[in-house]
Amino acid sequence: MTRFAPSPTGPLHLGHAFAAFVAAERAGPQGRFLLRLEDIDRQRCRESYSRAIMDDLAWLGLTWDGPVWRQSDHLRNHRAALKRLAAMGVIYPCTCSRGDIRAALSAPQEGAPVIGPDGFVYPGACRGRSMAEAGSQDALRLDMRLALARVGRLSFVENGPLRRGVHWLDPDWMIARVGDVVLSRRDMGTSYHLSVVLDDAAQGITEVTRGMDLFDATAIHVLLQALLELPAPRYWHHDLVRDDNGKRLAKRDDARALATLRADGATPADIRASLGLPSAP
Ligand code: GLU
Ligand code: ZN
Repeated sequence: MTRFAPSPTGPLHLGHAFAAFVAAERAGPQGRFLLRLEDIDRQRCRESYSRAIMDDLAWLGLTWDGPVWRQSDHLRNHRAALKRLAAMGVIYPCTCSRGDIRAALSAPQEGAPVIGPDGFVYPGACRGRSMAEAGSQDALRLDMRLALARVGRLSFVENGPLRRGVHWLDPDWMIARVGDVVLSRRDMGTSYHLSVVLDDAAQGITEVTRGMDLFDATAIHVLLQALLELPAPRYWHHDLVRDDNGKRLAKRDDARALATLRADGATPADIRASLGLPSAP
């Protein structure tokens, strides 16, 4: 069971098409391929983009099994998980603004700020605060050190060709390079990391396919799966589609939006060919 999980914050481009083809392909003829709309960011997501995503996928010849899973329909499950993590004592409320964090990071004793898979590693001003003092507007962070102390050695299985094999999580790297990631954003009540893990489990995903840019974030997800006693999917991290200058295609790169290519007369076969994929069976 695989899934394609775009966020409806813009039009699909060639990179998304590649990700969707990989997910459908990895499901195999007997398997199921699901579509999930990662729409927890209410500020940036638009219903018109959701419709356009489904339209583009259908045009590409990709059909998903079952109903579309909208992440925003499952916030209750995300909140319940935060409660469990709070009961374990591994999350804490954080009132820091971006400016506070920047200021703390530029203090002379801090050295060069470390940028990990979740942005700047949090310097820790709020660490140790109790969930009893959490306000409804506070972000919630994972105390990485405490979280790692609760679980044994962790690993995940990578099936993809680029990094195939068993990958062990390195706790020292997690503490130094990832740090206390936000699990509940103040404006969302959840976060990408928490929702993706919970929804993959709820949808019964057995192989998570996604771009290599999320390889480091997978360590965060494996830790959350262990804490929340969720089944461990396998992973397939694929290469990223780049433009002619080797630059990664960004979502707002409208020139490469599928809809634009389509309007210019491209066929689904052209799209597959430009992605280096064999023609459809
Ligand atoms: N929703 C994420 C994105 O649009 C991908 C989720 C995932 O594969 O983990 O990039
Ligand atoms: Zn804080």
